[in-house]
Amino acid sequence: MNSEKFHIGLGNNDSSIRDSAKKDYISFWNECAKSLSWFEPWTETLQWNPPFARWFTGGKINASYNALDVHQNSKSEKPAILWEGEDGTDRKITYHEMFIQVQKLANVLKSLGVKKGDRVTIYLPMIPELPISMLACARIGAVHTVVFSGFSATSLSDRVEDSQSKVIITSDGGYRKGKIINLKEIVDESASSVQFVKNVIVYQRTGQDIQMNEKDLLWSDVMGSASPVCNAEVLDSTDSLYILYTSGTTGKPKGVLHGIGGYLTHLYSTYKWAFDIKDSDVYFCTADIGWVTGHSYVVYGPLLHGATQVMYEGAPDYPDSSRMWDIIQKYDITIFYTTPTALRMLMKFGDDVPNSFDLSSLRLLGTVGEPINPQVWKWYFDVIGKKKCPIIDTWWQTETGGMLISPLPGIETIPLKPGSATLPIPGLDIQVVDESGNEVEPETKGSLIIKTPWPGMLLGLWKDEQKYKDVYWSKFDSVYYPGDYAIKDSDGYLWLLGRSDDVLKVAGHRIGTAELESSIVSHNEVAESAVCGIPDEVKGESIIAFVVLKESAHSSDEKLRTELRETIRTQIGPIATPNQFYIVNKLPKTRSGKIMRRLLKAIANNEKIGDVSTLEDGAAVSEIQSAFDELQKNVQNQQ
Ligand code: ATP
Ligand code: MG
Repeated sequence: MNSEKFHIGLGNNDSSIRDSAKKDYISFWNECAKSLSWFEPWTETLQWNPPFARWFTGGKINASYNALDVHQNSKSEKPAILWEGEDGTDRKITYHEMFIQVQKLANVLKSLGVKKGDRVTIYLPMIPELPISMLACARIGAVHTVVFSGFSATSLSDRVEDSQSKVIITSDGGYRKGKIINLKEIVDESASSVQFVKNVIVYQRTGQDIQMNEKDLLWSDVMGSASPVCNAEVLDSTDSLYILYTSGTTGKPKGVLHGIGGYLTHLYSTYKWAFDIKDSDVYFCTADIGWVTGHSYVVYGPLLHGATQVMYEGAPDYPDSSRMWDIIQKYDITIFYTTPTALRMLMKFGDDVPNSFDLSSLRLLGTVGEPINPQVWKWYFDVIGKKKCPIIDTWWQTETGGMLISPLPGIETIPLKPGSATLPIPGLDIQVVDESGNEVEPETKGSLIIKTPWPGMLLGLWKDEQKYKDVYWSKFDSVYYPGDYAIKDSDGYLWLLGRSDDVLKVAGHRIGTAELESSIVSHNEVAESAVCGIPDEVKGESIIAFVVLKESAHSSDEKLRTELRETIRTQIGPIATPNQFYIVNKLPKTRSGKIMRRLLKAIANNEKIGDVSTLEDGAAVSEIQSAFDELQKNVQNQQ
């Protein structure tokens, strides 16, 4: 573990928030909820019938009202979204324009018979019509289920069928790397013929011909005649807001169900604490709205605060690797939130690319999705933030709704440690335990657990109560088990070491994948790495490492292998040295950019590879498969 500390903050130091959360977490969240607009106050702050938490019961609220109506006096002309297309075209949507569009679409949905509790699948690219559609659902109490627009027909139909959606909202196309992906055709292939889908609304934008079927309606037609007034439905705090399927890194995606009042309270608070959001900020989160980061920190968090944000449709490296830095310069972005996988990709091209842009508007940087390798953290800090921006490494899950572990520069200044997500947010009791569920001493590895419910906590898994209990609540008694491996250091900082299922067990030692991969990535010619274990008669498990090199890498493979062995020996210990290093061009990843180590393991152990519906690129699997085949041959030749 890296012991360096960086003393950098934004000058905020309000200890009263942590103090009051420590005294009584329920009263603490009770106060936080008052920042939202409620139609009627709640009667009970938390109904906790483990494992089900229901927040602010009796309270009446609407998410769309809190995102839009509340800003109509003070911020109606403020841009909510500064949209940039892949080809450089842009659009500006003010809070007032968004308010009108949402009400119109809400009326359209009503006219199609969509009622409170009905599901609506949204299969749109990263355009303003996507948050508009979500808020239109939220306005009338319909449950939105957004499907990432990069998914295939099968993935889409699985999700439409599971959620039994009445309406699908789609577009004739989305742009990705200069190509148009015809989403309407994918809908036709997968879901439009399903009985319970009554209508498909199609947003036209590419100029291509569209094949219109009986159920299909053009967005422009239905919106043209819709009334621009639709009062927000008075909903229960515990009503459902949305279903969202997880990334599928560890298996079949789970349909996570979120409520309204608790979820919004969590987002309102964390968005302020972590991002220190101010009226003058221009915020840019690179996540696609198809993932939870997009739901929570592109749609709900920023809109609750009336923030201005940039939304970008397209690949982060299109037309070249300078695209992100160009956007930061063009819009004077002040807060930038992205993923370790995007940073590793951008880092591959060297420092000259970002150094040729003016990034001086930045004041805060964030990451989410995977552990960030300390080397990558430092690059982000030095080269992108010019040593003046705090970095928030935010740990959370689709299930948690919002961040649970992160530095919070909006309320306090604490030393940052590259690779550590630092401390739990106020009101949370997060610990590290051994296999029997007992808390371990500081500096000891174990499973991360959450002891108290929090407002963003999922209501459950869609139509699968048993799975909800089994996945999160059965491993240890009465505590939430996120499935991540971690360590708490002597300062109380949490370090996420990878998934518990992926932990390597070598000769009695347990090594988190993140520790080993970060050590490999610390070599200056390495861009990315993934490790996994294969059964070994003597050691229990032996380690195999896959390595992707930077563009600038020049050493011979043999020299590199020797240096990597040496790095791991000194940074972690000889026990952690992989038996084999494979230099490959790409790693298997989910479409949200996470390394799918379970695929590596499955191939290595000659097992079925399971659900790969969220896999980004099948070619990576073939590459890994051939690397293993080669390994098998070598082993056989040696015997
Ligand atoms: P599935 O549950 O279907 O396997 P997933 O866990 O990848 O998919 P998400 O909810 O998108 O789905 O991801 C949450 C997980 O991502 C966390 O459990 C953790 O493993 C990882 N993660 C997210 N943020 C961080 C972070 N800052 N540091 C370390 N790990 C993180
Ligand atoms: Mg998960």
